[in-house]
Amino acid sequence: MCLFCKIIAGNIPSTKIYEDNNILAFKDIAPVAPVHIIIVPKVHIESANNVTDENSKYVAAIFEKIPEIAKSQGIDSYRIINNCGEDAGQTVKHLHFHLIGGVKMGEKII
Ligand code: 5GP
Ligand code: ZN
Repeated sequence: MCLFCKIIAGNIPSTKIYEDNNILAFKDIAPVAPVHIIIVPKVHIESANNVTDENSKYVAAIFEKIPEIAKSQGIDSYRIINNCGEDAGQTVKHLHFHLIGGVKMGEKII
């Protein structure tokens, strides 16, 4: 089982922010900003390269809830990041979106 599947299963503790049948949002263990939430589908999808007709509903479910998750953290301006693959710095091979905010960010992405 991958790290995030273990978190989803409750085998590894996390600080949960939001959960429903399809998605889980929890605090990143090493936050880079005052708000740094990881949002994952509850099914194992390896990366953005593995999104298909069959599982894209989980991606939609994540984006449908992002405004509510952000609001629960007191922000309505934020950056959503997905690292896909080695060169992009994906360290956990379970599709996830970083919701980052609570700080003024520059216009440059990298
Ligand atoms: P990636 O680099 O794959 O896009 O992001 C993985 C993220 O997962 C990193 O920001 C890292 O801090 C976070 N992370 C790694 N292990 C754990 C963990 O055990 N618990 C939590 N809450 N976050 C983790
Ligand atoms: Zn997984």
